[in-house]
Amino acid sequence: MDTFHLVIAGKLVAGAQTMPVVNPATEAVIAQCPRADPKQLDEAVSAAKAAFPGWSQTPIAERRGALMRVADEMEARTEELARLLTAEQGKPLDKALEEIGGSVFILRALASLELPEKLLYEDADGRFVEQRYPLGVVAAITPWNFPISLLVVKVPPALLAGNTVVAKPAPTTPLTSLRLAEILNRHLPPGVFNMIVDANDLGGQLTAHPDVAKISFTGSTATGRKVMASASSLLKRITLELGGNDAAIVLDDADPKATAKSLFEGAMVNSGQVCLAIKRAYVHESQYDAICDELAELSRQAIVGEGTQQGTEYGPLQNRAQYERVRELIDDAASRGKVLGGEELDRPGYFIRPAIIRDIDDDARIVREEQFGPVLPVLRYADIDDAVKRANDSEQGLGGTVWSADTARALEVASRLNTGMVWINSHMNINPFVPMGGAKQSGMGQELGQAGLEEFTQRRLVFVPA
Ligand code: ADP
Repeated sequence: MDTFHLVIAGKLVAGAQTMPVVNPATEAVIAQCPRADPKQLDEAVSAAKAAFPGWSQTPIAERRGALMRVADEMEARTEELARLLTAEQGKPLDKALEEIGGSVFILRALASLELPEKLLYEDADGRFVEQRYPLGVVAAITPWNFPISLLVVKVPPALLAGNTVVAKPAPTTPLTSLRLAEILNRHLPPGVFNMIVDANDLGGQLTAHPDVAKISFTGSTATGRKVMASASSLLKRITLELGGNDAAIVLDDADPKATAKSLFEGAMVNSGQVCLAIKRAYVHESQYDAICDELAELSRQAIVGEGTQQGTEYGPLQNRAQYERVRELIDDAASRGKVLGGEELDRPGYFIRPAIIRDIDDDARIVREEQFGPVLPVLRYADIDDAVKRANDSEQGLGGTVWSADTARALEVASRLNTGMVWINSHMNINPFVPMGGAKQSGMGQELGQAGLEEFTQRRLVFVPA
């Protein structure tokens, strides 16, 4: 078995304890992972605090240079990192390769950004300029669905802006993140980047820590609320990327076959474990049967299996708790509508074949709650205003999609969705230079792009007399 270490104050250190990490495709233990105790968490925060004055004074070009060297080493080790990611996360190897390759691309793009002084207004009396300076120690907390890309949207901008970081991956997917932490540590001064691993028990201590200035969190809405509460005593800065219950609205002129394929991919990508996955589809009654039939056929054809096997399209659920939750939602849906697919695989591992749910009401759990698994409820509508109203009837407001042969019609519908992002005839088109963030209880603040970088800074307005 390979060995893994926490990264604290520039050193690779053993955890106070260890814990097993399980391959979700086999349920076999693949590594013993270091687990930090509260004292090690304090040491990581102290190291980041001590490294902050030096790093924040380092010219941005040097900070960028270090991040570009991290990208180079990551790129050179893509295959190794992807294999580890598949082993702990479950996703097919080609998707893991895409995650690592995409993360290298995002890292380079984000590291290329600048934080120039901006002239806001000038007249005979003088000028107002805006400056940006770093906040201090940033806590970066990530979930288990995209352990590397979600870390890479946080850490490079935090560091580029001059902050130091204590990162904490999810307990069920810590290994690839720890490898990336070693790489970061090799190219950065001691203490600038630290990583600890917990067993879901140190998040509260990290976010409440008086020396943490900013929290960048991706995870569930329930945990996001706790992060916000933790941040309130010191009015810490927070960026929250939380859950979604994204609706797809299919207009009556969309091509049923092509649209069904896009809906299926948008719902089942990463076995549905994506905040931005399509979680509900509203389909016009004239197309309803055709699209449901096509979706059911795609479910039958889907190649579900171990990520290391050539040709696998969909891996297992990432952990037992999530598997059980998704099973429960499918069982509940079966009592209220018709389930097509959704079978378990007769083998070890947390596998569920993609499920399509038809003839189900809007108040069923699978429609109201975020499933975060390979299940798509398909709902019928007759009137587009009714579809928009039902799509908006959610506490979440992350993304959404609209499908139509007529882009102008789709845009009109898109303009009525109360979400942070909408894609027309496409899904999850993410660009590192374009900021993203959720509406309502899907989050707060933005990631990516200039706006995402600025979330790791304090704005200073300066008046300079003429
Ligand atoms: P899930 O319920 O699917 O595990 P979470 O949103 O709880 O999703 O997990 C996302 C990340 O948040 C993980 O790294 C997890 O360890 C961390 N976490 C869990 N509890 C807390 C907390 N109270 N404060 C901060 N982070 C937490």
